[in-house]
Amino acid sequence: MLGPDFENIVRLLSRMPGIGSRSARRIVLHMLDNKDNMMLPLAESLQKAAIDIQNCQDCHTLDTSSPCHICAAMTRDRSLLCIVENVADLWALERTGSYKGLYHVLGGTLSALDGVSPDDLHIPHLITRLDELQTQELIIALNATVEGQTTAHYITDCVKGRDIKITRLARGVPIGSALDYLDDNTLVTALDSRSAM
Ligand SMILES: [Zn+2]
Repeated sequence: MLGPDFENIVRLLSRMPGIGSRSARRIVLHMLDNKDNMMLPLAESLQKAAIDIQNCQDCHTLDTSSPCHICAAMTRDRSLLCIVENVADLWALERTGSYKGLYHVLGGTLSALDGVSPDDLHIPHLITRLDELQTQELIIALNATVEGQTTAHYITDCVKGRDIKITRLARGVPIGSALDYLDDNTLVTALDSRSAM
């Protein structure tokens, strides 16, 4: 018998995106076979990361410091603010190296089905930041899903009346795709040929 700890690790791992209970079991077995160079270092790193990594007080991305290194960098163009759904999408845009403005991570998209309302996302904080930063262009880089587009329209309505140019990624982005899965060239093209909303 492997005991309750084994089952507990399997249960927790199988809640991770893309991992079913069979993969979770395989992962735990692999770790048990490699305790010294896998399981123990992983446990230590997980504990450290849980303490050290936090959400940025300004853009809500994850970093070891708050404000994060992007918000703190004086070399970034502070007149540009790009809205993304999650941290993985921010990383996808950063990977291209072609965007030099600031970000705002919403933490999801509006969904009546899943009960996600504007207050569950960082939309009220977004409005405060737009005024504080005196943003000139707001780039909506939300995924081309129904929820992404509903959220984009909601934000556009909230921002109405302010002297801010609102743009979105070009329609070359495949419908329903997540930014994180796009290749860098497609993403750079979508960013460069963004259009007014
Ligand atoms: Zn930040």
